[in-house]
Amino acid sequence: MNAVSPLEAVKQHLVNLKMAAALEVLDSVLDQVERQQLSTLEALDCLLAEEYTRRETRRIRTQLLTSRLTQVKTLESFDFSFQPSLDRNRILTLAELSFIDRRQTVHLLGPPGVGKSHLAIALGVAAVKAHKSVYFTTLTELITSLTQAERAGSLTSRLRYINRVALLIVDEVGYLPIEPGGANQFFQLVNARYEKGATVLTSNRGFKDWGTIFGDNVVAAALLDRLLHHAIVVEIEGHSYRLREHANLVPDTLKGQSLDRMEKPKRKPGRPRQRQPAGRD
Ligand code: ADP
Ligand code: MG
Repeated sequence: MNAVSPLEAVKQHLVNLKMAAALEVLDSVLDQVERQQLSTLEALDCLLAEEYTRRETRRIRTQLLTSRLTQVKTLESFDFSFQPSLDRNRILTLAELSFIDRRQTVHLLGPPGVGKSHLAIALGVAAVKAHKSVYFTTLTELITSLTQAERAGSLTSRLRYINRVALLIVDEVGYLPIEPGGANQFFQLVNARYEKGATVLTSNRGFKDWGTIFGDNVVAAALLDRLLHHAIVVEIEGHSYRLREHANLVPDTLKGQSLDRMEKPKRKPGRPRQRQPAGRD
C-alpha cells in the first residue's frame, strides 16, 4: 500500500479538525507558494485567517440571533452629520463597551426617528462582536414575557435567565401603556440586575413621565433610583431620520417634539388608578 502523501495527510488533518474553510483554499494557497507569490509563513497565515474569519462570521450570526438582534444596525451606517446634537465621540466611546464592564445603565432619549433604536442595536452588535452576551427586547415584549413566566410559576428562573446577560437592551420605554403588574415585574428585573449587569434603555419620554408610563409613582421612583445610579444619559434633540424626505407632510403641531414638550397621555380625572400587586393581574 502506498504511503499517504504529505498533501493528503494535511487535507485529512483539516477534515478531522473540521477546518473546512482552510481546506477549501489549501490548493490555491499551495499554488501561490509554488509560484513564490507567498512565503511558507504567509501561506500558513492565509489558511488560518480564512478559517478564523469563517468561524467568527458564524459565531456572530448565531449570537445575534440568540441576542434577538435580528435587525442589524452599526455605527458605520449611522450618519452623525444628520444628528448634530449628538456627540459622535461620546457614542464612539460607548461603543468601546467599558460601560458594560462597569455595569452601567445608558439612557438614549429623544423624539421618534432620531436613531435611538439604531444606536442601541449598534451597541448590541458591537458587544456581540466583543464576545459579550446580549439580550434585546422592547419593554412591552419584556413585560409580556415576565407576565407569562409569572403565570407559569417560572418568574424567578426567567429573571435569572435575562439577568445572566452582560448587556440588556430595553427598547421603547414609554411607547405603549404597561399592563397592570408589569411595572412591578420590571422593577424585580431591574432590582435583581442592579450593579450586576449593564443596561441600555431607549425612550421618547423624559424621566418626569415615568410615573405615568409605569402607572405608579412609587415604583417609578424606585426604578429611577436604580437606573439613574451609574447612568449615562444621552439626549438626542433632532429631526426624524425616517421623515427626512417628507418632513413637510407632518403637521407643525407635531414637529420637533422635544422631550420637555412631549405631551403626557391624558389621564381621566378622579380616583388614581389602582395597581395590583405582582402576581395578580
Ligand atoms: P428611534 O428609535 O429614535 O425612533 P430609529 O433608530 O428606529 O429611531 O431610526 C429610524 C430609522 O432611521 C432606522 O431605519 C434607522 O436605521 C434610521 N436612522 C435613524 N437615524 C439615522 C442616522 N443618523 N443615520 C442613518 N440612519 C438613521
Ligand atoms: Mg425606536
